[in-house]
Amino acid sequence: MAGLYIHVPFCRQRCTYCDFYFVAGQRDHSAFVAALCRELRQVARRGFSEPVSTIYIGGGTPSQLTSQDIARILRGLRKAYDAAAAEEVTIELNPEDVTAPYLQALKKLGISRVSVGIQSFFDDELTFMNRSHDARQAHDALALVAGAGFRSYTVDLIFGLPGQTEDRWAQNLDRLRAFDAPHVSTYSLTIEPKTPLQKQVARGLVSPLPDQAMATLYQMAMDTLSSHGYEHYEISSFAQPGHRAQHNSRYWSHANYLGFGPSAHSFWWQRTGGAARWRNVRSLRQYVALIRGGQSDAVCEDHEILSLPALGLERIMLALRTAEGVDLLVLKETYDMDLLATKGETIARLAQAGLVTTDARSLRLTDRGKHICDRVTASLLP
Ligand code: SF4
Repeated sequence: MAGLYIHVPFCRQRCTYCDFYFVAGQRDHSAFVAALCRELRQVARRGFSEPVSTIYIGGGTPSQLTSQDIARILRGLRKAYDAAAAEEVTIELNPEDVTAPYLQALKKLGISRVSVGIQSFFDDELTFMNRSHDARQAHDALALVAGAGFRSYTVDLIFGLPGQTEDRWAQNLDRLRAFDAPHVSTYSLTIEPKTPLQKQVARGLVSPLPDQAMATLYQMAMDTLSSHGYEHYEISSFAQPGHRAQHNSRYWSHANYLGFGPSAHSFWWQRTGGAARWRNVRSLRQYVALIRGGQSDAVCEDHEILSLPALGLERIMLALRTAEGVDLLVLKETYDMDLLATKGETIARLAQAGLVTTDARSLRLTDRGKHICDRVTASLLP
């Protein structure tokens, strides 16, 4: 079974922190939708054709597309792939696009889960991030989504904005809790290269929040959401029972997935051992031209074959972020990697410091370890 990801590369404007690929302000999406449907067919014909377990329409801003465009994409997808048993079909929405008729149209198309990019419930924070919606729209969109009857939905919030106080973050969490969303993702504001935010920081216009303040806000999210019945099942992800994100969970467990649209990534196990990974071109114009010419293989860039040892290390990084942690048996049987034998002393040290817990079968981060997930992971790598 494979997961399918579709990247919709359109946004109204650029959020200051964002380093995803998108084109701002484009109104005509027809060439993209036609190319996407063609790419789905062409890739399936190249032999990437397992039944589909999850579908994720992300971006960019997928809700820039009309429901007719989304219908066309899903029709194309279902023609090219066997998606009859897909257990989750997610689409990302921006609050300013959410209306009751739009949500009902999405439901009719078989969308089972929506992801709303709220980020903050406060106008000054939204303005700082250059989001294209305000606090009122965030609130109204969430109310509509909560009442629309999807099987599940998720809300994204960002914490750690320059100058953000604990009180302000607590108010964001409180407003979110009032909706009792089945799933929440909280991301710390990161300063990515070549973003407007990075330029603001470099010019001294903005001062990032100190690490300790970031850690406090993260701990507040963990405490608040855990005390209200959410399971903290991945570093940034909290779910009520039965509402874990199935599609994202596939990424963390190294399952096959295919990405469509400009800049989308794919991962595919090889029969000969190891796995292939590639990324589509980060140019809408080039993407449309190549697909029109029948060259879905030429759309792929950065093609690499990952060996089993390289995959084993990656699996450690991915699995440590999850509540289940690293399955030591899977690591041994699938990747031929005996972590207890090679890193036994390090693991004992980490356990003594209260950063991980371990038994014969698994290795998991403690809450303390989650604050420095990257450092713990680095200590387990060669
Ligand atoms: S809406 Fe999403 S993809 Fe678009 S610029 Fe903002 S963060 Fe990036």
